[in-house]
Amino acid sequence: MIDLKAFEVWFITGSQHLYGEETLKLVAEHSQQIAKGLDNDPQTPVRIVYKPVVKTPEEIYATLQEANTTKNCIGIITWMHTFSPAKMWIRGLSILQKPLLHLHTQFNRDIPWSSIDMDFMNLNQSAHGDREFGFIVSRMRKNRKVVVGHWQDPEVLAQINAWARAAAGWHDWQGAKFARIGDNMRYVAVTEGDKVEAELKFGYSVNTYGIGDLVKVIDGISDDAINTLLAEYEATYTMTADLLKGGAKHASVYEAAKIELGLKKFLEDGGFKGFTDTFEDLHGMIQLPGIAAQRLMAAGYGFAGEGDWKTAALVRAFKVMGSGLKGGNAFMEDYTYHFDPNNELVLGSHMLEIDASLANGKAALEIHALGIGGKADPARLVFNVAGGAALNASIIDMGNRFRLLINEVEAVEPQNDLPNLPVARVLWKPYPDMKTGCAAWIYAGGAHHTAYSQNLTAEHLQDFADIAGLEFIRIGKDTRLDQLRNELRWNDASYK
Ligand code: MN
Repeated sequence: MIDLKAFEVWFITGSQHLYGEETLKLVAEHSQQIAKGLDNDPQTPVRIVYKPVVKTPEEIYATLQEANTTKNCIGIITWMHTFSPAKMWIRGLSILQKPLLHLHTQFNRDIPWSSIDMDFMNLNQSAHGDREFGFIVSRMRKNRKVVVGHWQDPEVLAQINAWARAAAGWHDWQGAKFARIGDNMRYVAVTEGDKVEAELKFGYSVNTYGIGDLVKVIDGISDDAINTLLAEYEATYTMTADLLKGGAKHASVYEAAKIELGLKKFLEDGGFKGFTDTFEDLHGMIQLPGIAAQRLMAAGYGFAGEGDWKTAALVRAFKVMGSGLKGGNAFMEDYTYHFDPNNELVLGSHMLEIDASLANGKAALEIHALGIGGKADPARLVFNVAGGAALNASIIDMGNRFRLLINEVEAVEPQNDLPNLPVARVLWKPYPDMKTGCAAWIYAGGAHHTAYSQNLTAEHLQDFADIAGLEFIRIGKDTRLDQLRNELRWNDASYK
C-alpha cells in the first residue's frame, strides 16, 4: 500500500503589515484552525500543514522556495484572509514548482448581521483579497485549481482531496523509473512516443533492459522462495488438482512463481515503479509473465504490455492517486464488443495481465495455451470484475504534446458464464452511449490500452492533467460528438 499520509500539503495564508499586529494575530489563528480542520477531516488523504502567514515579498519567496525543496511537500494551498497585494507574490510564484490550489474561502460561513462592523470587514475580506491573488496567477499563466466555498463544506473538502490525490500521483512521477523490458511490439504506433519529451514534461524516465538481464535474476531465485510463494498461491486462489504439487501441470505454476519472484527482485533492485514487457522478446524465458504481472500490479507497480510505457506510468500514477480508496486501478484493453442494440457492451481484458486487485471474489489460477509468443502455456488468474462507476484513461503522444483522454463508463457485472475464456474480464457501457463514446474515443486518437479505474473520477484526472500540463479531453454523460470534434480542432490550434 502506498501511504499518502507521508505527504504534506502546505497551507499558506497571505496578508500584509498594513493591518497591524492585532489583526495579523487573528489571521494566523484563523489560518491555523482552517489548516487543522482540513488535516483532521477523515477523508483527507495527506497531511495539511499550517505555515506562518506571509506578509512581504521576501517571506513569500522564502516559503515557496522551501516548499520546492521540501521532499515530502507535494503542493501548496493558498488563501488570502485579508488583502495581500499580489505584486508581492510575483517572485515567489515564478519559482514555484509544486502544484497550487487556491482556496477561495473565508473563516466565518455567515455574515454576522447584528454585529458586523468595520473591524470585521477589515479582517474578513477574502472576497476581494483572493481576486487580487487570482489575477496575478492568471496573468502569470500558471495552472492551479480554484476551490470556492466555506472550508467546512463537504463539497469543498472533496475538491481539495481530489486535488491532493492528483498532486500525490504527480509527486510520485518525479524521478520515478520505469523499466522497458524489451522494446515495443513491432509496428505498433500508439504505444510508442517521445521518451525524452516525457521525461522533460512528466519527470519520470523510461529506459530499456534486455530480457537477458531479467532472465539472469529469475534463474537466481531459490527453491525455498518459490515453494513459499506456491503455498501462498494455493491459499489464495482456486486451483485444480493437476496444478498442485505432483500434478501434471505443476511445473508451469512453479515456473510462473519463479518468474514473479524474479521480476519482483529485478524491480526492487533497480528501484523501478513499473515495467513493460513484450511477447516478441522473451528469449530465455519459459513463459510470458501472466500471474506475475497481475500480482505485481495489485502490489502497486505500474504495468502495460507490448512496451507501452505511457500506460504503465499512468497505471502507477492511478495506484498512487487511488491509494486507500475502495476499488482498484488497473491496466486494461478494449477487447471485443457486444453490439446487441438493447444491451451494448465493451468487453475489456488482455491476453493475460488483468490486475488482480480488480478480482470480484476468489480468482482461479489456471494454465492455458497462449496463441502468440511461441512460449510454454502461462499461468494466469481468471476472474470477473464488479459493476459500478468506472473510467478508462489513455495518454497518447500527439507529436507536439501529450493528450490525456478519459471515458467515463458504467461497469456491468457479467451475466453469462464464459467457460471457454481463460482470462479475467470486465464489461462496461461507455458514456454517453456506445456509439458516441467509441466514436469520440477514436476521433481523439485514444489507445486500445488504458488505465482503468474504479475509484478515480474525472475531477482527479482533470486536476492531474492541470498539474502535469497535459491536454485533457473527457468523454462523459454530456459529450456531444459535434462539440467534441470542435474541441479537438480548437485544441490543435491552441497548441500550434
Ligand atoms: Mn495489448
